[in-house]
Amino acid sequence: MPAIAGLAPEILDKYQPVIGLEVHVQLLTRSKAFCGCKNEYGGEPNTHVCPVCLGLPGALPVLNRQAVEFAVLAAKAIGCEIRETSVFSRKNYFYPDSPKGYQISQFDKPIAEHGCIVVKDADGNDKKIGVTRLHMEEDAGKSLHDGFADSATRTYIDLNRCGTPLVEIVSEPDLRTPDEAFEYLTRLKEILLYTGVSDCNMEEGSLRCDANVSVMLKGADKFGTKAEVKNVNSFRYIRAALEYEIERQIGVIEDGGRVVQESRLWNNAEGRTFSMRSKEQAHDYRYFPEPDLPALVVGAEWQKQILSAMPELPEARRARMIAEYGLSAQDAATLTAERPFADRFETAANAAKSPKRVAAILLSEITMRLRAAEIEFEESPVTLDGVVLAADLAEAGEISSKQLKQLLDTCFAEGRDFAFVYERDKPQQISDSSAIEKMIDEVIAANPAQVAQFKGGKRTVAAFFVGQVMKLSKGQANPALLNELVVKKLDAN
Ligand SMILES: [Zn+2]
Repeated sequence: MPAIAGLAPEILDKYQPVIGLEVHVQLLTRSKAFCGCKNEYGGEPNTHVCPVCLGLPGALPVLNRQAVEFAVLAAKAIGCEIRETSVFSRKNYFYPDSPKGYQISQFDKPIAEHGCIVVKDADGNDKKIGVTRLHMEEDAGKSLHDGFADSATRTYIDLNRCGTPLVEIVSEPDLRTPDEAFEYLTRLKEILLYTGVSDCNMEEGSLRCDANVSVMLKGADKFGTKAEVKNVNSFRYIRAALEYEIERQIGVIEDGGRVVQESRLWNNAEGRTFSMRSKEQAHDYRYFPEPDLPALVVGAEWQKQILSAMPELPEARRARMIAEYGLSAQDAATLTAERPFADRFETAANAAKSPKRVAAILLSEITMRLRAAEIEFEESPVTLDGVVLAADLAEAGEISSKQLKQLLDTCFAEGRDFAFVYERDKPQQISDSSAIEKMIDEVIAANPAQVAQFKGGKRTVAAFFVGQVMKLSKGQANPALLNELVVKKLDAN
């Protein structure tokens, strides 16, 4: 972060930042919010348009049922209460990429309110961040400033995006640090992806975030004047923009100035925010109920039907997987971060002899090798099926942990899956009892002190003998058989 004002830590420490986030999420419906046009990213400019989304006189909007269902699903997933009768309103403002001159949105009666998202605070404790509301609205088109014949002197308009269904999710000003804001967005995106209502693709603008931030002296009972940082296209940049903005505002106040209520744009190349325009207040938009749409009624029966599509959500899934697979919280977070992967993992693990062992091999041996090779699991030579096979062989004692490591090394070195390498290089395993017994006798004879310890009641010393014999066999003794025989021999000795 550029230390803009070069403020000393003890100055920064006098202030408490206060952050609230507004997140716009495009819904993955087949058609647009109020017309039958295709809801799809890209396409030849102005090919997914009709009189309704072009705002031509006389065209009437018809609400998309799937958009309502997705909004309800998203709202319930973040703990909101659904308002049975919500109202669409016109939000009046002129923008070249919004031909109607207003946006259909929801104002005083949004479809959902009073939700919450749990984040970890700086001490690692759970902290509930309130969600004020989730409301439905439509997206605008796009102004294109380059790439066309007369781009130097003209702006081009593409209205394909016009009328795309959105939900806007507004948080309470409960966030206190840029890290908490980052965590809130991460959790929110994860939940939305689990519900499948959006692809949350930030590069394509399916998820966009504005941040309201102010600072006040610690212990003050009134928030400072807030500035809004608009349309930052990654969570990391939002964190950076907030860090910058907090320091900028403290600098203004320390210099005896006043923070102005305004919208600011983040410039990532320069690592700073710029004033864009003074911030509108709600009354600037002259909201009034949309006369072309009836009130939206989502009754108990419809809600029940929508909620039957609610998947197990990330937090619940983590808790269950920690219990079921003996995972750490960190490992559970890794496995559940993306639902398709979590689904594939669980399907594979449940087909294995020991799901726990599948998780353990995946999170240690595989992860370690992926890191070393600097690749993602999607590019791993060892597939989930390969991990399951390895886990089953290890579980049955048919390969030792040393052999497992060697086989995996070969897989990664050659870029081949486990089944192929195992069939080809199947480790020589000594499963002949008499051969193993002979080696055990040898080790027992060489370690009288440890034998005495075992006889004295310290049965854990058996592990020492197992280790020694394994070494003697160059890692080839059948581990299950070896364990059994060592104890038998020691007891009989
Ligand atoms: Zn249309």
